[in-house]
Amino acid sequence: MPIHELPPQLINQIAAGEVVERPASVVKELLENSLDAGARRIQLDVEQGGARRIRVRDDGCGIPRDQLCLALSRHATSKIASLDDLERVGSLGFRGEALPSIASVSRLTLTSAVAGEDSGWALQGDGGDRFEAPEPAPHPVGTTIDVRELFFNVPARRKFLRTERTEYGHLEEVVRRLALSRFDVGFDLNHNRKSTLRLPAAEDAATRDRRVGQICGEAFLEQAAFMEQEGAGLRLWGWMGLPTFSRSQADLQYFYVNGRMVRDRLVTHAVRQAYQDVLYHGRHPAYVLFLELDPALVDVNAHPAKHEVRFRESRLVHDFLFRSLHRALGELRPGASSAPTG
Ligand code: ADP
Ligand code: MG
Repeated sequence: MPIHELPPQLINQIAAGEVVERPASVVKELLENSLDAGARRIQLDVEQGGARRIRVRDDGCGIPRDQLCLALSRHATSKIASLDDLERVGSLGFRGEALPSIASVSRLTLTSAVAGEDSGWALQGDGGDRFEAPEPAPHPVGTTIDVRELFFNVPARRKFLRTERTEYGHLEEVVRRLALSRFDVGFDLNHNRKSTLRLPAAEDAATRDRRVGQICGEAFLEQAAFMEQEGAGLRLWGWMGLPTFSRSQADLQYFYVNGRMVRDRLVTHAVRQAYQDVLYHGRHPAYVLFLELDPALVDVNAHPAKHEVRFRESRLVHDFLFRSLHRALGELRPGASSAPTG
């Protein structure tokens, strides 16, 4: 075969292979877009584990009519414009790949309205890369993305979908992770028209606690301590499970770097070391922790779907995590705070 350029739809479908593995990955991308758009309330309606339908409605800034088509084009983004921006990116997305990829493997309708326009506009796609002109559609300020029949045109992918229950489990876990990263945003999740998660925006410590309890279980909340430590431009805060709440699996570990959930070796190692003296061998700690630092000191431009980050000063971060958690754990030991010092 002579060398030839691939048609855009195929390019998008190939990219979708990386970004869109299953319904849960669609939900991740759509929710991240809603959060980047400044949404305060997000409603998700999914059917059949997301395979049949995923609809995300938000009250974010919306997309103006003349940019709707661009939102579905490859490498088109409103989030960065230069390498400089990339180095200090604060948004969850920036690649401009998710929407065109999702649109290439589903039947997608994008409806959006911005403040000041007198109507919303809708754009429909059927897995191709061409879209008709937007049509007027009533919509409050914000965006609704409706993704139906995921992988209808990629049978090989559709075959890899697991049972409804399994797919839904993955999808709900994505919602939980993101809901823990933004207490100030309300999330409502419905599956097959039944409400499965109702998380009102948290304004105070009590509602934040309630959300942690809803997501991680009341038992965790009862046996976790709230911690906060600052130093060297780094801040760590969140809920750390007491040694009495150890787990046989590493399944209750939520760690966020500047609001982005990560699974990072360096982080896991530092946490494990901090808990080393207080946990039995083979037990795992449970935690919901947030690390905040200058965005210029972390590189989030790793693989699109992986949760890796690269710290510019990894030693410093490791030591800070270890010391903060170790100290907090020490203070938790009964009597430690009242023990005489020196
Ligand atoms: P990225 O998020 O990497 O920029 P996407 O393909 O996910 O790329 O989205 C493309 C663009 O569409 C975004 O940069 C944003 O401007 C717009 N967009 C997507 N979803 C929303 C939304 N829910 N509300 C407002 N704008 C959105
Ligand atoms: Mg995005």
